[in-house]
Amino acid sequence: MKQSGGVEASIKLVRAGMVYRTASGPVEALRDISLDVERGEFVSLVGPSGCGKSTLLRIIAGLRPATAGAIRVDGMQVMRPISNVGMVFQAPVLLKWRTVLDNVLLPAELAGRSPAGYRQRALDLLRLVGLGDFAGKRPHELSGGMQQRASICRALLLDPPLLLMDEPFGALDAMTRDDMNLELLRIWGEGRAPGGQRKTILFVTHSIPEAVILSDRVVVMSQRPGTIAAVEAIDLPRPRTVETRASEDFGRLSLAIYRALDRGKARASQAGIAEARQPGGGIRAQS
Ligand code: ADP
Ligand code: MG
Repeated sequence: MKQSGGVEASIKLVRAGMVYRTASGPVEALRDISLDVERGEFVSLVGPSGCGKSTLLRIIAGLRPATAGAIRVDGMQVMRPISNVGMVFQAPVLLKWRTVLDNVLLPAELAGRSPAGYRQRALDLLRLVGLGDFAGKRPHELSGGMQQRASICRALLLDPPLLLMDEPFGALDAMTRDDMNLELLRIWGEGRAPGGQRKTILFVTHSIPEAVILSDRVVVMSQRPGTIAAVEAIDLPRPRTVETRASEDFGRLSLAIYRALDRGKARASQAGIAEARQPGGGIRAQS
């Protein structure tokens, strides 16, 4: 991938692999993942359920160590949970005894900063995602989609340069989701020049249209063990708008990704058959 001014990519994976050790034996989640995400780039990951998308975000964030290969964020080897990252998990994981506002303020406390200094920003973020009236509520008083929006505010509180987002809009209805997509592009910095001004975002989704509307590139993963089946550049003009979704190019790119997903599935099932035929075939854990 091209890199600007000799600056290393924001995220760099070199032949990364991940094998979970479970009571019933090793589970190979990821194999041989090499990927550079540039600073300021918006990259989406699509792939079948269970292909290792969440695992990939976890090893980049340093929440789990990869079992093979190397991972660097901003040129630094990932050895432990990284700071300066906003993470949105597949499930909202809010603390149920805290108000929505206090949940959003949590990263400030964890970073040893005064939450009071972030209060206004937290309230502004909540208003931005339509939760202005819910700051004082507890998480159980919110729907799943509203909780997820609160967890997005929490990830944005400290304005991190890197966002790792795991199906953040999966629980939202289609219309809210479309609105949130365009809002996320604004937060990312779509209006600003490409490069350092924008956040770097790695975004997991099940939705091909969502991946296309948001991304600079879409990485298509194969079935487990997840490998990179294809990388599709999304050369649609920015800023993207509601009209973008109706364009011919949008349809063409969506179809290309759909086909790449299908090829990834076919390839994985062929590999599975070949592996099963070999004596002693199957998954071996890497150390
Ligand atoms: P995705 O997010 O693409 O649906 P995951 O990364 O959640 O996939 O999971 C990839 C594979 O790894 C799945 O087969 C899943 O069962 C397995 N897996 C995920 N987390 C763990 C874990 N903590 N322990 C054991 N196996 C896991
Ligand atoms: Mg997942």
